Amino acid sequence: MEQRKGRRLILFPLPFQGHINPMLELANILYRKGFSITIIHTNFNSLNPSTHPHFTFHSISDNLSESEAADKDILLLLSNLNAKCCEPFRECLATLLSNVTEEPVACLICDPLFDFTQSVADSLKLPRILLRTGGASSTAVYSSFPLLREKGYIPKQDSRLEEPVTELSPLRVKDLPMINSSEPERFYKLVRALSYDTKDSYGFIFNTFEDLEQHALATIRKEFHIPIFPIGPFHKYFPAASSSSTSLLSQDQSCISWLNTQPPKSVIYVSFGSIAAVNEAQFLEIAWALASSKQLFLWVVRPGLVHGSEWLEPLPSGFLESLNGMGQIVKWAPQKEVLAHQAVGVFWTHNGWNSTLESICEGVPMICIPFSADQMVNARYVSDVWKIGLRLELGINRGEIDRAIRRLMIEKEGQAIRGRVSKLKDMANLCLKQGGSSYQSLDGLVNHILSLEFLLRKL
Ligand code: UDP
Repeated sequence: MEQRKGRRLILFPLPFQGHINPMLELANILYRKGFSITIIHTNFNSLNPSTHPHFTFHSISDNLSESEAADKDILLLLSNLNAKCCEPFRECLATLLSNVTEEPVACLICDPLFDFTQSVADSLKLPRILLRTGGASSTAVYSSFPLLREKGYIPKQDSRLEEPVTELSPLRVKDLPMINSSEPERFYKLVRALSYDTKDSYGFIFNTFEDLEQHALATIRKEFHIPIFPIGPFHKYFPAASSSSTSLLSQDQSCISWLNTQPPKSVIYVSFGSIAAVNEAQFLEIAWALASSKQLFLWVVRPGLVHGSEWLEPLPSGFLESLNGMGQIVKWAPQKEVLAHQAVGVFWTHNGWNSTLESICEGVPMICIPFSADQMVNARYVSDVWKIGLRLELGINRGEIDRAIRRLMIEKEGQAIRGRVSKLKDMANLCLKQGGSSYQSLDGLVNHILSLEFLLRKL
């Protein structure tokens, strides 16, 4: 813990699991660097202040109706959050800034997907720094959207999905990020929030490291003209077990006891994150693929994973008994601990950025089944750039899943892939050590934050 700096930072996470985790990890990192921390959060997916007694929490009312909060159209939900949080956020921030009994606030750190925060911060003369919870490679792709539209790659046409995007090799048209919504323009708004609109901020923090995404980081530095701070992997600043506190669902620890009884690298861990969903036919295809692989597996079936079902109802009766202890199903796992467990040999993932990075940090090869957004880019990087996993090109297809499991768990190819991801794991550890790239970048970020008030005074 470093000496207190007499400066407070206000952090405002987007209320989704994959955005909350890295923002709270960043808060812990900056707290250890000596800053006081205030978190503003919404009622929707509200945080539990008791998990971080050293932070100050302020909740704002988002006024989402029950049906709005339950909307499966994630872009509509985001659009409603942006519309309804703006005024409550402005009021909360103004009150915090007028509180003279606390340390001066150095800056606001927020998620670029809260698109109103720049104008609010400007109106209160507070510098705004962004945290990108996705990777640098996908961010570079978002910043290429004007070119991709001009060249006709976007909107994607079904007949061109397998075509290479020569300007962004090795991506294919099908790998370009997209999120379906009742109103397509909402997606382009999100693209602008992650690229063009970031240029007015005072800096961009990334949960990644130079050795992993050097090329994309160089592109971003060239295009964005704001200071870029790749200081990840955030979760490796702390022991694995300490990171459970930001989970919105309760983590089922029983799977760790089960893993303790399994041989090294024998288990396939399957999880598609906090938002992705499948239909009943896809769910059954996954279930049969796992059962027929004859490999041990730990499968996270989140309530809501299967459209129209509460939990496991679509499974045929007798399915669970027929596994004879080969498989374990939980509603939510302590994922970082699971991936760090010696029994886990492969991660079958949707390639959300956090999951991808967590897998790399534990040296676990991946089977990739991206569903939407940046997951498409991450999956292609895993399979074709870093060569640390296999992408399922046919979607959820039992034959291809079976082949991927064999290639990774049984065949020689799996060992080569494991060797490569192990090297990345070592690099991830090294970059946080004194003199490492993320270590230095974090020092740069701290100095940048401390210099902001002088910058502002000069304006
Ligand atoms: N996670 C977890 N338990 C689970 C599944 C996921 O704790 O059973 C965590 C995971 O460690 C990661 C986050 O939830 O930090 C998911 O983020 P990601 O970016 O991978 O995907 P998203 O949920 O945003 O699609």
